[in-house]
Amino acid sequence: MDFDLVIIGAGPGGYVTAIRASQLGLKTAIVEREALGGICLNWGCIPTKALLKSGEVYEQLGHLADYGLSVEGRSFDFAKVVDRSRKVAKQLSSGVAFLMKKHKIEVVEGTATLEKASPAPKVVVALKAGGSRTITAGNVILATGARARTIPAIGLEPDGERVWTYREALVPKACPKSLVVIGSGAIGIEFASFYRALGADVTVIEALDRILPVEDEEVSAAARKAFERRGLKFRVAAKVSKLSKTKTGVAVALEADGKAETLEAEVAIVAVGIAGNVENLGLEALGVKVDRGHVVIDEHCATGVAGLYAIGDVAGPPWLAHKASHEGVHCVEHIAGLKPNGLNAPIPGCTYAQPQIASVGLTEAAAKAKGLTVKVGRFPFRVNGKAIAAGETEGFVKTVFDGATGALIGAHMIGGEVTEMIQGFALAMTMEATEAELIATVFPHPTMSEAMHEASLDAFGQVLHI
Ligand code: NAD
Repeated sequence: MDFDLVIIGAGPGGYVTAIRASQLGLKTAIVEREALGGICLNWGCIPTKALLKSGEVYEQLGHLADYGLSVEGRSFDFAKVVDRSRKVAKQLSSGVAFLMKKHKIEVVEGTATLEKASPAPKVVVALKAGGSRTITAGNVILATGARARTIPAIGLEPDGERVWTYREALVPKACPKSLVVIGSGAIGIEFASFYRALGADVTVIEALDRILPVEDEEVSAAARKAFERRGLKFRVAAKVSKLSKTKTGVAVALEADGKAETLEAEVAIVAVGIAGNVENLGLEALGVKVDRGHVVIDEHCATGVAGLYAIGDVAGPPWLAHKASHEGVHCVEHIAGLKPNGLNAPIPGCTYAQPQIASVGLTEAAAKAKGLTVKVGRFPFRVNGKAIAAGETEGFVKTVFDGATGALIGAHMIGGEVTEMIQGFALAMTMEATEAELIATVFPHPTMSEAMHEASLDAFGQVLHI
């Protein structure tokens, strides 16, 4: 065997797994066809946060008078905004290269396919530099990620010019003046928020009856109101029937609320979910089970083919970087013979729009659908001292407790910096905290996190500041 472990794909699933493998003494190689860090660092989580920060600062400049401040005019250099985002991505990708070196992980640049072998499939890599290399290992982990799903049936495939996926939306030559975003998940909403901040006329189209449909209904409703105040427009319960080219952009034909209409814009962004990268890996020949574009795995990420595991986006939802890292660490600890905790830790989700949205665990509706009796608490930022001082009074915290046991089973937030706060509730849920621990915890004053305490108190009739 050349290695104890070969990992295919160096996103936050693959590269974190490689580091943990190296810590556990496994001789490890990682194969990557594009850039270390995968979609997250290069084309997703990180460069979008850089763009969003530029948009947020620019938008705030429009509200300086609220803080007793003023500057002469405001403007942006779009190329520099994009360039900053690319530099941030590059810096982090180089950081991953450093980490691979530090942990003595061999990076193989090329595209991998699998061939039948024992005790694990062989990895055949078409090397970027030319030629091929066959690698044998005791174990193989697939961490090939996912890509944007498209809707060929509506006429126009993403062409990088008029119809974009997240990839093109990250590196456009100019800021579009008008934009239609199809899909109101995290990707659609983040791009809508960024381009709106820079002044674009943005309409978001959502097939379901509310935006951010995975979030708690109250959060979806508050998000829509907050975004509408910023000038974003929405069509929900909408069906896009056709995309077609116009002289200056794209026309999007849709039906919403029984009414047909056509929206024209310079650009359309398609953000209707993602599809696992399961193709051209040799999975069929190995007999790997694939269900709706995702590799089927067991409770230790095993695929059922000896020595072959899958983690992260390619192994199904939730399609989040931190879920991929979590699964990878679990998987490699299992391979190394440890007894890691199960994969059922609560996984927080964040959308970095203005305002931000963050949640963990069950929504109120999902808890009720499970037959649980719930105790729900709420606390708005408009009465939180720090939020008022900071001028960030939009939004609220909502907690969902199991009425029978007192366990926290869900938390939902919308407002400034809530993506930094949700971890408190994730920790509480991981430790199976009940209202007793949350109420007994001392929250620093003045902070927006006090709203988390108050929302817990509120669920048990003890709210203080309202
Ligand atoms: P998504 O599945 O979260 O959202 C897609 C939305 O598009 C859904 O609300 C769906 O109802 C809607 N939709 C589907 N078909 C449609 C159609 N024909 N017309 C109109 N609407 C339609 O997918 P996404 O936003 O593309 O993101 C992909 C994954 O990446 C998600 O799982 C997301 O959580 C993850 N992600 C997370 C972050 C983050 O954590 N900040 C950021 C980006 C992406």
